[in-house]
Amino acid sequence: MDVQIEKCVLSLIQGDITLEETDAIVNAANSGLAGGAGVDGAIHDAGGPSIMMECRKIGGCPTGQAVITTGGNLKARYVIHTVGPVYQGGTRGEAALLKSAYLESLKLASARGLKSLAFPAISTGVYAYPVNEAARIALKTAMDYLKEHSDIERVRFVLFGQAMFDIFAAELKKLIEVEI
Ligand code: ADP
Repeated sequence: MDVQIEKCVLSLIQGDITLEETDAIVNAANSGLAGGAGVDGAIHDAGGPSIMMECRKIGGCPTGQAVITTGGNLKARYVIHTVGPVYQGGTRGEAALLKSAYLESLKLASARGLKSLAFPAISTGVYAYPVNEAARIALKTAMDYLKEHSDIERVRFVLFGQAMFDIFAAELKKLIEVEI
C-alpha cells in the first residue's frame, strides 16, 4: 500500500527489514545498544559484527533518541538505532517517547542527506506497546514530518507478518480519511 505525501512515497509492506535496500533501515534498539531479540537481533545477525563495534563506541542511546552506524553487510548503507519505550500502561509518557523515536530517526536521516528509510513497528514486540496505537503514532509522525520536509523521498514501514500489516493499513486508511 502506497500513499504520496508531498514529494515522498510512504509505503506499507509485509516483510523482513534486513532485506531492505533503502539508504538506512531503522533498528528498534535498547538503550544500551546491546543487541537482543526481535528485529534488533535480526539486524545484527544480517549486518555482521561491525555494527555492534560501532554501537559499543557510541555507548548507548536514551529512550526516544536515535543514533546512526554504518550498515555492515546489509544492503542499506546505514542503520539508525532508535529506542522506543517499554509500554507500562500508557501513563509514563510512552506515546510522546514513541513519537520521538520516529521523529528523531527522521531528523537524523535528513541531517545525513539520506533519501530513503525503512522502519519496523517500534516497541510492538518485546516492549509490548498496543499495536493499533503504536501504528497510528508511527504513521502520523511520519506523515506530519514529510509534509514539512521534502528531502526524504521514500519511507517504508516493513511489517513482520500479515496481522501487523493489516493493522498499519487500517490505521493509515483512517488517517488519510481524516485529511480528505
Ligand atoms: P521492541 O523491543 O521495540 O518491541 P521487537 O524487535 O521485539 O522490538 O519488535 C518490534 C517489531 O519488529 C515487532 O512487531 C516484530 O514482529 C518486528 N520484527 C521482528 N523481526 C523483524 C524483521 N526481521 N523485520 C521487520 N520487523 C521485524
